[in-house]
Amino acid sequence: MDRRGIVLSKAGGRYRVFVDGTTHEVSIRGRLKQGADQVLVGDWVVIREHAEGGGTIESVQERVSVLRRRTPGRSHGLRSVAANVDQIVVVGAASDPDWNPHMMDRFLAVAAANELPILLVVNKCDLAPDGSRFGAVYEAAGYEVSYTSVPDRTGLMDLRDRLQGRISLLTGPTGVGKSSLLNALQPGLRLRTRAVSRRSQAGRHTTVAAEMYPFAYGGFVVDTPGLRDIGLWGLEPADVAQAFVEFGPYVGQCRFDNCRHVQEPGCAIGEAVTRGEIAPSRLDSYRRMLEETHSAARPWLTGRAR
Ligand code: GDP
Ligand code: ZN
Repeated sequence: MDRRGIVLSKAGGRYRVFVDGTTHEVSIRGRLKQGADQVLVGDWVVIREHAEGGGTIESVQERVSVLRRRTPGRSHGLRSVAANVDQIVVVGAASDPDWNPHMMDRFLAVAAANELPILLVVNKCDLAPDGSRFGAVYEAAGYEVSYTSVPDRTGLMDLRDRLQGRISLLTGPTGVGKSSLLNALQPGLRLRTRAVSRRSQAGRHTTVAAEMYPFAYGGFVVDTPGLRDIGLWGLEPADVAQAFVEFGPYVGQCRFDNCRHVQEPGCAIGEAVTRGEIAPSRLDSYRRMLEETHSAARPWLTGRAR
């Protein structure tokens, strides 16, 4: 019998597929085997159960999205991580660890480069009465922001509603409470804390595979243990420029048509910061990230004035 399900994990040619509330372990049909990305975690698939036991993935449904990771420093280093992710939930803490704007902006930029909807969560609001000021910058920039506290259970129902029925990837710095938030919503739903190492033909390497867990209220949560720190995923200069959504309306207004918004005269973004329309921390993050992406020398100010 053929049944439709979603891939929760894959390892060594075995796939765990979630079908109507139960997990099936299946292999893959020969013709689907070419290319490592033929079947990804998050793919909707049709599986055939065999009379003698076991089953195979027969076909893969068209994907709505593919979460990709760029390997820093390599131009063709794009790697597919998961399919059909609906949103990236970037979590930060209002305190312990201190809110780090640059780090949060990195996480947001990588999420934005994947062109997926983003939810920003400011957790540990119990530790900082003024925690909402961290989110205010992002609300002004147009982001959805949730404020949570695990011990006080603040914002947990709101977060549950936002995860419900969707495939969500949680990311953010270590120690901000990602595991705790999930566990508070669904006891037992913890993120794995460390990447598993295993041997491959290429030698020793870290398993980077994503894995997905059914969310009790509907939907799935994606965990990427080897890639947890998506803030360190590579970005191209073009990704960086696009990731700062609130720059959008100003970009075409700079004096130079190829303005990088670094220190060019007549930069509309710099002027928007001066007028208080863009947060200085955001322009600072943008500049630092842009610098990090520039391994090779790039032309400066060679564009024409408008
Ligand atoms: P992760 O690395 O992002 O998964 O963070 P954890 O969930 O492991 O949490 C790190 C620490 O922060 C743990 O000691 C948690 O108990 C604590 N923690 C998590 N959320 C909150 C919160 O909302 N408020 C407070 N005060 N502590 C929290
Ligand atoms: Zn500019």
